[in-house]
Amino acid sequence: MASLSIRNARAIVTVDDADRVLTNGNLLIEDGVITYVGPEEQPADRVLDARGCFIYPGLVNTHHHLYQTFTRNLPQVQKMELFPWLVTLYEIWRGLDEDCIYYSSLTGMGELLRYGCTTCMDHHYVFPKTGSEGFIDRQFQAAAELGVRFHATRGSMSRGKSDGGLPPDDLVQSVDVILEDSRRLVERYHNPEPFSMAQVSLAPCSPFSVTTDLLKESAVLARQLGVRLHTHLCETKDEERFCLEVLGKRPLEYMADCGWLGSDVWYAHGIHFNDDELRLLAETKTGVAHCPVSNMKLASGVCRIPDMLKLGVPVGLAVDGSASNDCSNLLAEIRAAYLLHRLTYSTDAPTGYELLKMATRGSAAVLGRDDIGQLAVGKAGDLFLLDVDSIDQVGALLDPGCFLGTVGYARPCKAVVVGGRVVVEDGRLMGIDEPTVREQAQRCMEQFLERA
Ligand SMILES: [Zn+2]
Repeated sequence: MASLSIRNARAIVTVDDADRVLTNGNLLIEDGVITYVGPEEQPADRVLDARGCFIYPGLVNTHHHLYQTFTRNLPQVQKMELFPWLVTLYEIWRGLDEDCIYYSSLTGMGELLRYGCTTCMDHHYVFPKTGSEGFIDRQFQAAAELGVRFHATRGSMSRGKSDGGLPPDDLVQSVDVILEDSRRLVERYHNPEPFSMAQVSLAPCSPFSVTTDLLKESAVLARQLGVRLHTHLCETKDEERFCLEVLGKRPLEYMADCGWLGSDVWYAHGIHFNDDELRLLAETKTGVAHCPVSNMKLASGVCRIPDMLKLGVPVGLAVDGSASNDCSNLLAEIRAAYLLHRLTYSTDAPTGYELLKMATRGSAAVLGRDDIGQLAVGKAGDLFLLDVDSIDQVGALLDPGCFLGTVGYARPCKAVVVGGRVVVEDGRLMGIDEPTVREQAQRCMEQFLERA
């Protein structure tokens, strides 16, 4: 039995049912599962000294497009909103190949891990006509090398320009091809068991890039296979206008008619829901992935988080794609969310601790999991250590639960553990040779942009 003992943490923020914060805390993980949290040092095969550290449950990301790691900070799209931004970027993304997917996944997930995110979700929906068959397989390969829990989604686009959609015709696929590949990926990779390292959901891209039959048939297939459903919804007013003009309905009404309500569905963004729609989400336990940085960057609007929390809509936190963030740092997202909602909602805004809870327990629930997101006996050994024993933290350590939102932390973690395995040490990824991968990824990215 492999065991890891973590000793003498300055504070362990458990995010458990009692919201306990332990000072001088110890933790034992055996065979990937937490078996002790408390005051006593535990014997184990390996010991991590956590003196001077805060420990938190591993963060859980609920929405991402890792391939966009290679189209960050592109000058030509920096002043655009979502629709023109997408139309410009489709032309570049059509040059994606398997290596782009592999290296952008390694670097994007590597960044997530280094900043405390132990479960990564990705939504890949761009499949060029040739050479894209193995894209998601390569993502699973990258995740396994890094040691991160990975929730892939089989994204898709089926409504091209000539059908009134936004993407170019040669970047869309037929419903049959999409559903067949969805089934293949679920059968090959999806593990629904507790402590699963690999899951697959079905994720047609958005109302303006997919056909109604794809949405309906994806819902039927997902329920037949026992997997979850995900898409973008209510991200912009342009999308709302598209739905009203082309589909004759508001976005959520349209999705509801396609079978997309329930505790197995989560939407990215969810900015422009009205009061009745928020109540419907709460009643049906349909989830939302909140992406504050992307929403600010693309000027999409502010998600009604305080209203959602009040009504009981399941909400998780997410970084969204790297081209609208422009990074993969969920730790930084907590602070951005904190500040955005303070500015917008003042005294009704969630606290730093409530946002930490959203990025852990909330996100886990949105992905349909209760085995991750908290540090308690019987839960997965996923956590991160922050070294707070430094001069810039003097006076900032009074409230470890609120710390990440209120103060923020801008350095990589001292250590990150996934399923009891140390995958980051002193800010470095243990699963890969960082300098080599950085060089290979840089070359791959340059060749990709040259092709565009
Ligand atoms: Zn997105």
